[in-house]
Amino acid sequence: MTGKHEKAKERREKRLQEISLLRTIPYSDHQRWWSPETIAVVTGANRGIGFEMARQLAAQGLTVILTSRDTSVGLEAAKVLQEGGLNVDVHQLDVLDSSSIQEFCDWIRERYGGIDILVNNAGVNYNLGSDNSVEFAKEVIQTNYYGTKAMIKAMIPLMRPSAAGARIVSVSSRLGRLNGRRNRLRDLTLREQLGDLDDLSEEVIDRTVNTFLQQVEDGTWQSGGWPQTYTDYSMSKLAVNAYTRLMGKILSDRPDGEKIYINCFCPGWVKTAMTGWAGNISAEDGADTGVWLALLPDQAITGKFFGERREISF
Ligand code: NDP
Repeated sequence: MTGKHEKAKERREKRLQEISLLRTIPYSDHQRWWSPETIAVVTGANRGIGFEMARQLAAQGLTVILTSRDTSVGLEAAKVLQEGGLNVDVHQLDVLDSSSIQEFCDWIRERYGGIDILVNNAGVNYNLGSDNSVEFAKEVIQTNYYGTKAMIKAMIPLMRPSAAGARIVSVSSRLGRLNGRRNRLRDLTLREQLGDLDDLSEEVIDRTVNTFLQQVEDGTWQSGGWPQTYTDYSMSKLAVNAYTRLMGKILSDRPDGEKIYINCFCPGWVKTAMTGWAGNISAEDGADTGVWLALLPDQAITGKFFGERREISF
């Protein structure tokens, strides 16, 4: 092995060690603001990181609504958790289907009256290894960005007032960072606009992803200055990060007792179906930054993106 490779390996191992140290920090009893009556909804929870987040939130003593776009798969997944003694309910939810979202909201209102935590985990990616196909760009943007946005809009009116505040956590990716060293938008003006809360609006975010999709349709996207790795997926997560920043600002106007905190995070490179079981951490380890964010005792933090070392990033 060359010196360069050895150094890279050392850096990687050190980083993994730092992450595992963080993971050993428990939630102490006096910090627990939640109870079995606290309701957490997880999208795409039938497998992978979503399933793990559902499991870990339920293991912390919350009531978890495991949602899945396929009813029978959702029932099977929920059964596994229920048989482990966890407080888990289950419902169908396809984040691309507005009638499914509506039906889910009606069910929640009737059965629980409201929710306290929303985890936007449902997502798709069709590239593996060094591929960069945009064949499914529309579905990727629709699911990862518009689906997440639709859920946030549908769930906010159902979020219950509480002293601790309700929470929204979205599973994003460091591939969608605005100012990462690599894989960023070439257009500096657009980057600044997406990064500046005074300039940022839902219209700017939608226009950005729609311009990309238009270029995919026209066959001109390759010269569009978009991120170079998994371009469609990176664009979808870039939009999730920007929307999180925007909603952090919008929601911060709410009065005490009705606060809603919103953040997103990168779980790391996780061994799930999405990565073809590649990756360097398990779904269990990938999920826990999200669980930590959802349960933060002192939620002064909102509108932020967290890396897998739980550092605030951009
Ligand atoms: P999986 O492919 O294992 O899980 C994705 C989940 O999303 C599945 O439950 C899937 O349902 C669900 N889903 C997809 N489309 C919809 C939809 N329209 N409505 C409802 N649910 C849907 O992948 P991961 O667990 O790895 O991914 C979970 C999240 O983590 C995603 O947002 C992903 O982008 C993100 N992420 C993952 C990383 C990784 O390394 N794995 C890295 C960074 C981010 P179904 O089973 O029916 O297909």
